[in-house]
Amino acid sequence: MKIGCHLSASGGYLAMAQTAVSIGANVFQFFTRNPRGGAAKPIDKEDVAAFSRYAMENGIGPILAHAPYTLNAAGAEQRVRDFAEATMLDDLKRLSLTPGALYNFHPGSHVGQGAAAGIDLIASMLRRVFAAMGGEISTTVLLETMAGKGSEVGRDFGEIRAVIDAAGLPLGVCLDTCHVWDGGYDIAGRLDETLEEFDRTIGLDRLKAIHLNDSMNVCGARKDRHAKIGKGKIGLDALAAAINHPLLRDLPFYLETPCDLQGYKEEIALLKGLRK
Ligand code: FE
Ligand code: FE
Ligand code: ZN
Repeated sequence: MKIGCHLSASGGYLAMAQTAVSIGANVFQFFTRNPRGGAAKPIDKEDVAAFSRYAMENGIGPILAHAPYTLNAAGAEQRVRDFAEATMLDDLKRLSLTPGALYNFHPGSHVGQGAAAGIDLIASMLRRVFAAMGGEISTTVLLETMAGKGSEVGRDFGEIRAVIDAAGLPLGVCLDTCHVWDGGYDIAGRLDETLEEFDRTIGLDRLKAIHLNDSMNVCGARKDRHAKIGKGKIGLDALAAAINHPLLRDLPFYLETPCDLQGYKEEIALLKGLRK
């Protein structure tokens, strides 16, 4: 089973991998830079080399890099969109040092311009970023399914599909269990039906990663408040069913619950124990 959690990137790649192993994880997620800020720390190539060796020896991966929250390709202001484009391009260049990584980003918020305009802005940014990378993208770029808070794009599977169609690029999807639940998909009562709808609308071949979170709110609340595993409204039985579902079980699961390291270690042990 591929399972891990979000980790602090402050100590570098090797430190993250060692931390992952110390809590029973074999995958992990990290922010490419301060989630609310701008510039990234320069990459230490020796750290990357040491990490790559360690990851190989310990069966770590795929790693999932998360774009900063401030990246909004659908922003109304040119300045905001320029930051999104420059940041994603820089992130993908940095990730080319760790081939095979996944890169997850929030599609964006259309801030009143309407979903259709937001979708066009996101797709055109992605086309420019991919073009600037040439044929050299060793990273799989993932759109995250969103809760639909405010003017978030990606509030349902149809909006994710629309971005993929408009971009015409080999994009993947990261399904966040808290977000889809908050977005109105009853994964506790209707997981099979939800996955059928995902397959019809987007295609399960695009699904590359799961953010495994419980939710503090009821299905459809559009709130996006993550809860600890089994401590929220989705519940332990439903999350256990998700990690064992034949269509999901081989995917990597990344916890983003409100836990410290010890809490993550306990959640990972709990979920491994529920794995059939
Ligand atoms: Fe996210
Ligand atoms: Fe998430
Ligand atoms: Zn969230």
